[in-house]
Amino acid sequence: MSDTSDDCVFCTIVAGEIPAEVLGSNDHAIAIKDLNPQAPFHALVIPHDHHENAAASAAADPASIGHLVSLADEVARAAGNADYRLIANTGSGAGQTVFHTHIHVLGGSSRMTESLI
Ligand code: 5GP
Ligand code: ZN
Repeated sequence: MSDTSDDCVFCTIVAGEIPAEVLGSNDHAIAIKDLNPQAPFHALVIPHDHHENAAASAAADPASIGHLVSLADEVARAAGNADYRLIANTGSGAGQTVFHTHIHVLGGSSRMTESLI
């Protein structure tokens, strides 16, 4: 756990060292378009600080998760998606591939009404 990690792709994006399509930001996080979208609207909300998953971010600073959810709502609504789904994969067994906290924001698909949970 640290503020940044040299070999982390999301730390690199947060630092502006590799390009990403930025949809919005606040003092704590940025929202970008996912490189490999799984829905018509697919954003990633990424905190500035490096922690390996949402629970670790919450343990370090409980308010950090609130900042992520607020930004997720802002960018989803700005894109016309008042209805959306938030997902925070935690652990490789749940599909996590980037071990820097992020929340997927998915919207605009009729599949959103299908049940996963
Ligand atoms: P995870 O599987 O860890 O929950 O989600 C990681 C997400 O990050 C994937 O949906 C993947 O498409 C996205 N991703 C990985 N590398 C990059 C990148 O360099 N730029 C962007 N915009 N998205 C990325
Ligand atoms: Zn990182």
